[in-house]
Amino acid sequence: MSLTTADYISLEERYNAHNYAPLDVVLTRGEGVWVWDVEGRRYLDCLSAYSAVNQGHCHPRIVGAMVEQAQRLALTSRAFRNDQLPLLAQELCELTGFEMMLPMNSGAEAVETALKAARKWGYTVKGVPDGQAEIIACTGNFHGRTITIITFSPEEQYRAGFGPFTPGFKLIPYGDADALERAITPHTVAFLVEPIQGEGGIIVPPERYLKRVREICTAHNVLFIADEIQTGLGRTGKLLACEHEGVRPDVVTLGKALSGGMYPVSAVLAAREVLGVFGPGDHGSTFGGNPLACAVAREALRVISDEHLCERSAELGEYLIARLREIESPYVQTVRGKGLFIGIVLKPEAGGARRFCEMLQSRGLLAKETHGTVIRLAPPLVITKEELDWAVEQIAAVLA
Ligand SMILES: *Cc1c(COP(=O)(O)O)cnc(C)c1O
Repeated sequence: MSLTTADYISLEERYNAHNYAPLDVVLTRGEGVWVWDVEGRRYLDCLSAYSAVNQGHCHPRIVGAMVEQAQRLALTSRAFRNDQLPLLAQELCELTGFEMMLPMNSGAEAVETALKAARKWGYTVKGVPDGQAEIIACTGNFHGRTITIITFSPEEQYRAGFGPFTPGFKLIPYGDADALERAITPHTVAFLVEPIQGEGGIIVPPERYLKRVREICTAHNVLFIADEIQTGLGRTGKLLACEHEGVRPDVVTLGKALSGGMYPVSAVLAAREVLGVFGPGDHGSTFGGNPLACAVAREALRVISDEHLCERSAELGEYLIARLREIESPYVQTVRGKGLFIGIVLKPEAGGARRFCEMLQSRGLLAKETHGTVIRLAPPLVITKEELDWAVEQIAAVLA
């Protein structure tokens, strides 16, 4: 006897910690931009697992690479070498133009790794006195959920009950380059920033912001760390969102779509001067850089290039934003974003975005509200124009 949606939900509520409040849809299968629930209903996925599934659900080439590698060798630990890690390192560095990479598993671990690298770089290269390194981050940020990372989370809920926190962090307003310049001291080692804030509500900073961040960081010998875990790998219409302003950060974190959603894979990219600070034993992870992860990531990157997903995202994103802006609705304040990374910002009187997401669900479109008042639209980048047109119809209907 097969279980119903209600059965699965009651099991999960009973046995699983309640650290999420998901929409009540129980998914069992995915293909491209579509997912199916246990009752056989089909939905267009407009969240893409927070942009982890840019290549589409169960992309046959990535599944193929995963199955092939899983049957050959899955895990060696870094106590031994494997024949996939060197190739991923080379391919990722050549693709992005960085000198070195360090593989991890989750996004939060990549951010932690970048912070550790920045601190050690500060002490060993910049000459900051031991124990005094400062790192600046932004209001509205999202960088993950470890205790150190929530230290500088602006969300009270993310911090409440989890102290004491890690010293050495400072928050400044997002999008304000002058505030960055004012906050820097001789002990500042890094500025950590998202090129577009995703969880913060698809906040696109003012034009030239990243250019000025680059200039200020260079002038003060501070590492510019771009967290591209959500914005990277084609989501905003470029391989890295920083490319929109033609800037190269010192350190980039990647995760999510690095595996096409197939497996947790993350990485830190930087110059040799930065990642070179790690010696044997300084940092590590049992699963980081395992051959299964590396084989999956190599194929996931090839799919992004071969299927021109950056270009698709740029083109279709522009089209979708224009179509969404044509929708006449008493509830919509503005539509913003870059590429297929789009937020529909609702007016306060709309009564929150959640109820619209529930209405969209009943019409076969899955989207997730962010920050209460923003409907985030980030479908897999393999979506077609016809599928986008269908999505616009559903969205227009619920916003009418
Ligand atoms: C999702 C995300 C993270 C954290 O990644 P996890 O894999 O959930 O740990 C960090 N930074 C940004 C910008 C993200 O969107």
